[in-house]
Parts: sequence; C-alpha cells; structure tokens
Amino acid sequence: MTEQVDLAGDGPLETYHRRYSRRGLLKRYAAGRRRYFLYRQLTVVVVSAMITVLLSPEVGVAVFLLAFFGDTLDTLYITRMSSLRRGRSIRRVLTVSTGTAGLQAFSLAVLACAPTLFMSNPDSQLQFADETSLFTMGILIGAAVDSAVILPYHPAAGILRLLIFAAAPVLAVLTTSMEIQKLETFHGFQLAGLGVLYVSTVFFVSFINSRFQRSRKNTLAVALQHKQLQQTNAKLQAQQLQSERLAVVAENANDSVFLMDATGRITWVNEAFTRITGYQYSEAIGQQPGDLLNADVTDQTVIRALEQGRATGKPFRLEICNRRKDGQTLWLETNQVPMLREDGTVETVIAVERDVTAAKRYEQQLKDARIAAEEGARVKSEFLATMSHEIRTPMNGVIGMAQMLERTNLDEEQKLYADTILGSARTLLSLINDVLDLSKMDAGQVELSNVDFDLRSCFQQTLNLFEPQAREKGISLALDVAEDVPERINGDDRRLRQVVLNLVGNAVKFTDEGGVKVAVSAQQSADHLRLEFSVTDTGIGIARNKLDHIFERFSQADAAITRRFGGTGLGLTIARLLCEAMGGDISVTSTLGEGACFAVHLRMNHAVGSDSEQVVSAGFAAAADDSATLDGMRILVAEDNKINRLLMRKYLQEEPITLEFAVDGAEAVEMARSFDPDVILMDMSMPVMNGLEATEQIRTMDLRQPVITALTANAFDSDREACLDAGMDDFLSKPVNRSDLLQALRRYAPKVLKQA
Ligand code: ADP
Repeated sequence: MTEQVDLAGDGPLETYHRRYSRRGLLKRYAAGRRRYFLYRQLTVVVVSAMITVLLSPEVGVAVFLLAFFGDTLDTLYITRMSSLRRGRSIRRVLTVSTGTAGLQAFSLAVLACAPTLFMSNPDSQLQFADETSLFTMGILIGAAVDSAVILPYHPAAGILRLLIFAAAPVLAVLTTSMEIQKLETFHGFQLAGLGVLYVSTVFFVSFINSRFQRSRKNTLAVALQHKQLQQTNAKLQAQQLQSERLAVVAENANDSVFLMDATGRITWVNEAFTRITGYQYSEAIGQQPGDLLNADVTDQTVIRALEQGRATGKPFRLEICNRRKDGQTLWLETNQVPMLREDGTVETVIAVERDVTAAKRYEQQLKDARIAAEEGARVKSEFLATMSHEIRTPMNGVIGMAQMLERTNLDEEQKLYADTILGSARTLLSLINDVLDLSKMDAGQVELSNVDFDLRSCFQQTLNLFEPQAREKGISLALDVAEDVPERINGDDRRLRQVVLNLVGNAVKFTDEGGVKVAVSAQQSADHLRLEFSVTDTGIGIARNKLDHIFERFSQADAAITRRFGGTGLGLTIARLLCEAMGGDISVTSTLGEGACFAVHLRMNHAVGSDSEQVVSAGFAAAADDSATLDGMRILVAEDNKINRLLMRKYLQEEPITLEFAVDGAEAVEMARSFDPDVILMDMSMPVMNGLEATEQIRTMDLRQPVITALTANAFDSDREACLDAGMDDFLSKPVNRSDLLQALRRYAPKVLKQA
C-alpha cells in the first residue's frame, strides 16, 4: 500500500490514500480511542464499584486507578499523536502507542482478574476463582472484541492487547496457585472452554480483518474507477477543445482544406477553398473534386496517380494542374490523408491543397531562362568555333606569306614591314587562342587528358622556347628540379605546358635585368602526387593593390606598362582556371620594382605505364631529326582554299618532294589510290566530302597506307580527337609555320620512306 497521502486533494483516490495510509489508519485509531474513552471509563467505574462492594474497597479503588491511568495514558498519547505534523517519524509513534496500548490492556487485565488476584483467603482462592471466572471472562471477552475491531487500524497494538487478554486468565490462576499439584484441580472443562474461546477470537479477528481489507479494496477500486473516469473526461474535454481549435484552423487556413467521404464526394470545404478555386461551399458539397476542377489542362497520369493514391488508404502528396471556376489555370499541391475506421475502411479523406501556381510559373521561367542560357552558350561556342576557323584560314595565308616574304631578299625597310606583319599576325593569333580557351573553360568544357610524360623535359622544352628571347634581353633563365621529383608522372602535359608557358612568358616579358628561375618540387602520397613549381623573376613586380586582381580576365596591373609590353590580360586567368581544373591553385607574391613569384600546385598522378612507353602520338619521334631527308617523299595536300594551296606549294617548293593537290575529300580519296602518297595533309572542312570522311574511306582501302595529318583551322581539342578517331596520325593546326610543317614531315620521313 502506498504511503502517499495527499491531504490537499479531495478526490476519492486522495481520500482513500488519506484514510488507508499508515498515518491515516493511525489517526482513525486515535479518533476511535478518543471517541469511546468515556464509555470505557464508565465501564471501569461500574466494575470497580462492584469489586469495592463484593471484594474490598481498597482493591476496588486500586484497580480503578490503575485501569483509569492505563487508558488515560494510552488515549492521551494517541490523541496528541493525531495532531502529529507531517514528517514526524510514524514508526516511533506506532512503537510508543503499542507500548501504551499494552499498558492499558495490562491495567484492564488486572481489573478483570482482581477477584482472583486479591482474594484475602488464599486457601479458598481456587474455589473463588471458579466462582468469579465468569466475571473475569466477561470483561476480558468484551475487551478482546473491542481490540479485534480496532486491530486493522493499529495491528501491533491490537495483537499485543489480544495476547495480554488471552494470557491474563492463565497467569492469574498461575500466580495464585503456586502449588503445582493444586493445578490439577483446575477444571478440565474450563481449559477446554478457554481454548474454544481463543480459537473463536482468532476466527473473529480474521473475519474482522478480512472485512476491513475487502472494504479497503472496494474503496480503492471505486477510487481508481473514479480517477479513470476523471482522466477520460479530461481527455475527452481536451480532444473536444482540440477539435474546436482544429476546426478554427482549418476554417481560417490559407490553404484550401476540404473533406471527402469514402466515395470521394466533398462533405466540407473551408473559405480558402472558395478563394482558391472560385467555387462556393454550396456548389462544392456533394461534388467530386475532379468534376469541379479537372480540365483539359489536367494530366491524365496525375489523375490516375491521385485515384491510386486514394485507393491505398495511405496519405499521399502530388501536384496537379486544374482550372478555377473562372477558367484560369491553377497549380495545386495536394496532400490527402485518409481517416480509417477500426475495420480499416475509409471514413473521411482530408485534403489540404496549396496554390503553387506562382511557384510553378517561376519554375517554368527558370527552366526557360536556363534553356535560353544553354542555347546562348551553345551559340556562343559555335560562333567562336566558326570565328576561330574563319579567322585562322586567312591568318594562315597572312602568316605563311609573310614568312615566305621574309625568306626573299629584302632591304632593311621591307624586312621591318614583313616582321611587323608577322609579329602582329602572331599577336592576333594568340589573342584568338586565349579567347577561345577561355570560352571553352567558361562552358566547363575543359577536358583533361591523362598521359604519362617526362616532367623534366616538359619544363625544359617549354623554357627552351624562351631561351632566344632571354639571351637577347641579357637575362638568365634557370630551371631547378628537386632531386626527389619523379622522372615521369601522369597528367595533362599539354595543359601543364600551357601554364608554364604563360608564367615564364610573363616573367621574361616583364624582366629586363637579373633573371627568371623556375623551381619544381613534388610531394608524393599513396594515391597522388602534389606537384609544386614556382616562377620567380627580378622584373618590374606588381603593386600590392593589384595583386588580388591580376588573375581576373582582361586584368592588367598597369595600363602604361602593358602598352609597353603588350598582352591581353587573359593569360593568368587561363592559367588559374587550368590550375583549378587540375585540382590545384595558383598564387602570387611580389614587391613592386623587385620582381614577382608565381607559385602553383597541381594534383597529378603517379605514372602508370612503363618507362619505355612513348608519349607522342602515332609513334613518331618526339623531336624531328633536322638531318632527316625528305628526298622522294610523295605528298598530297587536300585543301579547298586556293591561297592555302598556294602557300603549301611555296612552303615546299624547295624540298625534294613530289607534291599533288586535291580540292576536296572525294578527290583526295581518289588520289590516295592513283597518286600513292607517302603523306596526306588533310584539311577538315572541305566541300563534297570532308577530311574526316575521306580519311575513314582511305583507311578502309586496300593500299599502302599513307601518314595522314590533319592540317586544319579547327583548333579545338575535340577536333584533334575527331581527327585521331577518324584514323589520322597527327594534327597540325592552321596557321602553320613552314618550319613546323617541315619538322613534322621530317618526323614522318623515317617511317614512310622506309616503307616505300
Ligand atoms: P598579359 O597578356 O597582359 O600578360 P596576363 O593575364 O598574363 O596577361 O597578366 C596580367 C597582368 O599581370 C599583366 O598585364 C601584368 O600587369 C601582370 N603580370 C603578370 N605576370 C607578371 C610578372 N611576372 N611581373 C610583373 N607583372 C606581371
């Protein structure tokens, strides 16, 4: 039983706890003792008076005082205890009150046994005991009944009382009959009667106790039921309140809310439904939402998905295009939640619908804008490709002819003019290349190749290109590759070369005294290689406030200086984008007037192939042997442009070769058989049949296969790929230098001339 007594609460459960806790029972015990105190004293007075009359006045008074004292002490203590404040030890009170109860019982037992105990003539004690036994038993039984009745309230006190009352008659006889043989005369029937009395008392006590416990349980059950009822009521009230609140929420929600029965007919709609769809409450009730809102704009698959969603009996969400009552298109995001009966059948479907028409419109606008942007990027890309092609073709003529002009006997002035034409044409070409590169990068079209290459020679070859310029300016150009840098690594060597070319080109360009130093180091980890290199110069340097901007496109540190040195302001932008594409970055430190240092780090891979593997395409030697002879080489140039044909003729006129021309792809195919060329220089864009198709056809023909090299104004990586895929061996982009062309031919010579 719980000890908890909540005196503040007045519910049945609280009352039960108050009454049946140990403290509560003790209080009730105390109240009983107090209430019947006077009756008990009245009985004691009467019995004492009888003893006074029948036995002796002294004994009468003595036993009265004893019994009165015992009861008064017990009642006083227990009464004082009833005002016990909470927190005082109840165990102590129970122990002390058991003691006072024992004292009270003892005093009463003495009163009951007084005739036997205080008989003046000891000889006639036994006989007298027989005569007064009824008196003694009467009092003791009365007291025992009283004790049994209050036993459940204070079990310890009750049991002690009963034990004292049970022991009293036996002890009385024992104390008065000291001579043991006289005990035999104690009547056997009296003993048997005493036994029956004890047993009856035990039965009586257990009867009283079980009744008490039953009534206690009943009280508890009633209290619990009451409590449960109260809780259910509270819950019901809360639910009702919540329902009312939800109804208000649904009624005033911004989203359209409506209820449907199991057949899908609308049973209730909120105000927002009317606002969003245009249909009044009375128009909507009894209708299927689809009948009201679906129209030709509604996607049939969505309607089917909606029906299927409802059939599952589970919540679902989808977007549907409907029409308002006034005919306007309406995009709704509908959330439908079925409420099920206990047997699992649908009772009501709650639909909450949001008007997402505006969001849909924005989505569409965004989509259109994206398509337009993509289209714009595509058009831009195409435009640039075309422009590049169209500009390269005449540039081929300009540069080629200027080169040829330079080879003739010119006086000083004429040579200056020819040099200027060539220089300007090359600048224009590098500008075109930069713009093209940048536009490809902007479109995210940088494709990196992964090949094994020799890192040292990649740097060395790039630096070699600047050797003449450095020598001319009187500055040093040094390469320092750390010893632990692996010889071969894997990555895009062309792009790496492009970055180095750019940085070293700038360094040489902006340095007039001192020199340029390139330092290369690498850190290797298990899965990749971190390549680091720096290009340090002792040139003009960059002002601190420009440092942050020089990687931006068309950004140059100083307009006056730029005019002096030339340039476009795109080189570093391209270098940065390339570094980022290669998983790295680029940074600069500089002091104006003292020089600059560009530091790059790139993520490269470990070389995968063997050392002997050749990196250069088509198995030709990396560098041409200048002494290789072209003697007897049969060259077919497939080219539709007259000027370019003339240029080729001029480029090769002094070489010991046989040269033929085809004006389109079809003719090239034909001449591949009739002319039996060693090398075909194939333009890509030609009428009748383009260079790719012609190559593919030639490659399928049963003849001595020539080396086919693209010689084209289409300069993109993708063009190079397409050419190699079609079966070409090499790729030269226009405008082509005479020396580059001859170098390429010399590279092919050992192969093709051996075959001949
Ligand atoms: P540009 O074609 O003009 O050289 P870049 O993007 O390569 O274009 O360089 C941008 C600008 O950064 C240059 O115009 C120059 O002002 C500055 N710059 C680049 N490299 C150096 C360098 N090594 N020393 C001094 N200034 C440099």
